[in-house]
Amino acid sequence: MPSANPGTAALPAFTPEIEAATAAVWEKVRRHVTPMEWRLHAPLIHAINQLKRERNAVILAHNYMTPDIFHGVGDYVGDSLGLAREAARTDAAVIVQAGVHFMAETSKILSPDKRVLIPDLKAGCSLASSITAADVRLMRERYPGLPVVTYVNTSAEVKAETDICCTSANAVQVVEHAAREWGVDRVLLIPDEFLARNVARQTSVGIIAWRGRCEVHEQFTAEDIREIREAHPGAEILAHPECPAEVIAEADFAGSTAAMNDYVLTRKPRQVVLITECSMADNVAADAVETEFLRPCNLCPHMKRITLENIHQALLEDRYEVTVDPAVALRARDAVQRMIDLPPPAVTARYDLVRARHHVDVELI
Ligand code: SF4
Repeated sequence: MPSANPGTAALPAFTPEIEAATAAVWEKVRRHVTPMEWRLHAPLIHAINQLKRERNAVILAHNYMTPDIFHGVGDYVGDSLGLAREAARTDAAVIVQAGVHFMAETSKILSPDKRVLIPDLKAGCSLASSITAADVRLMRERYPGLPVVTYVNTSAEVKAETDICCTSANAVQVVEHAAREWGVDRVLLIPDEFLARNVARQTSVGIIAWRGRCEVHEQFTAEDIREIREAHPGAEILAHPECPAEVIAEADFAGSTAAMNDYVLTRKPRQVVLITECSMADNVAADAVETEFLRPCNLCPHMKRITLENIHQALLEDRYEVTVDPAVALRARDAVQRMIDLPPPAVTARYDLVRARHHVDVELI
């Protein structure tokens, strides 16, 4: 239940008991958190984990959360697809989304009877804000009969205008599925222009794309990758498919955050560079002790709005509830559920850079 005196509960000090209770987390994060910071983090982690039990709550933490959140309080961690599946499965009464607003909406869409909280309502996304439901309706008028495949990084209203959702982990699979189901040779894949261009190189299905971009991944350039390679010739370079196609072409591997994680943990490269949001490398590094992580990366200002402090306040004060109009949620759920119902790929989906088709033009709206 919410605190009787919201925001006034004093945090416990860093006692020996709390130090002992959080020792396993400290072992995971000690390379990224100073002992001084830990004295502040540990009591919060302890308090949050107690509040979760009291409130029958779970925390879904995205790969771009800082290590104190990811390893300290996340019950389920992963990429958008993994978190969406967990939101649909959990029997907790409360879901706290340690991620951005569209992720919290997706959880609410899949779990309409649960209370979904986001610790900061301003945690948005440049992709989600690049497109509206009215834009999608206009596209349908312009391309009648073509299926609309929508990246999960969109608002509930946009998902409601969609035929099927996708994530970077399954976008190629979903595009090919949609083309087969609709009996067409072109699909709309919105709103990320770069993801659309990278998917277009993996399939013979024609792609019509929107001009949305992730403000984190659009900043990387092919020149950045060449400079990294020159400075660190032994490093393996892994890039996220929201990066421009020229960046992907220069990388050794491209895949979702889950695919990058798998790559590092199974192949154990000596040195690696993750071309994505900065916290990703910190989180994987905790479990990949044999690998040296080089750190050219960009911060997502939206993801970084979520902190241990505001997660604690969210549970304590029961804020901020994320709601979705039931009629919108119903239609959006169909689109998300069609994606979830697809069989999981036999191996973690990756973008095949060896067999990629080059110089593929997509139609940009
Ligand atoms: S990293 Fe990019 S896609 Fe992800 S939330 Fe931030 S702006 Fe949006």
